[in-house]
Amino acid sequence: MAFFQDRVAIVTGGASGIGEAVVKDLLAEGAKVVIADFDLDGATRLADTYGADRARAFKVDVSDAEAVEASVAFAVETFGALHLAVNNAGIGAPSTPLADIAIDDWHRVVGVDLHSVFYGMKYQIPAMLKSGGGAIVNMASILGAAGWAGSAAYVTSKHAVVGMTKTAALDYAGQGIRVNAVGPAFVETPALGKTMTDEERSVLAGLHAFNRLARPEEIAAFTSFLLSDRASFMTGTYYPVDGAYLAR
Ligand code: NAD
Repeated sequence: MAFFQDRVAIVTGGASGIGEAVVKDLLAEGAKVVIADFDLDGATRLADTYGADRARAFKVDVSDAEAVEASVAFAVETFGALHLAVNNAGIGAPSTPLADIAIDDWHRVVGVDLHSVFYGMKYQIPAMLKSGGGAIVNMASILGAAGWAGSAAYVTSKHAVVGMTKTAALDYAGQGIRVNAVGPAFVETPALGKTMTDEERSVLAGLHAFNRLARPEEIAAFTSFLLSDRASFMTGTYYPVDGAYLAR
């Protein structure tokens, strides 16, 4: 039987990159999925390839608490429950030394990369409790464990997501909800492509033992494993998926 038969999932940032790969993986394993993304066209295109009984798009800005609450309500109204969530939507920022970061830019990045995860879990967890339990993966980054010059807002957000994940796991383990964080190293996604020259890509590739970037599917495969009942003893932990980035 498929791992996620009769399970309902919400994936933020599911229209592109890692989130899109997660959506496809969950659907392949039988889940019904709400693709919650700022990019409604992209989310709708993806959902439509599966049909309304399996996948639905919902427009959300994850830095807006009310919009996130509405996305959870939509999942429950549409598919009758919520069992799985991947808080994945995130943005980078232009490289800027800390003292030069504009206050508005700081709040924008922290809003999308950190507050979003709090808003997500704040509304997903009650829905999961009503649905008999669930599992959450928060998409951190290898920069949830290491620094990166010029990226204070992003690095701070991802480290904080790791701390929030641990605490949420402790809060809800007794009520059947597991919470973990995944820490990808550099992944070949549109987000990375937009901001990099070929030379920069090759430098980044060399930071991994495989001398290449990760593929979104490689992050999605582990995310699905963590969400599945096969990971039933795994909660409260941050798992790098990093091609030995940290080992170096
Ligand atoms: P991506 O840009 O390919 O996809 C991100 C998706 O999130 C897009 O569909 C976008 O529309 C959506 N999104 C952006 N802001 C949003 C908002 N405010 N509200 C709702 N949706 C929004 O990015 P990606 O590379 O797949 O990154 C996904 C996650 O993985 C992010 O949290 C990112 O920080 C993390 N990550 C990425 C890498 C990498 O190298 N690509 C490495 C480590 C961690």
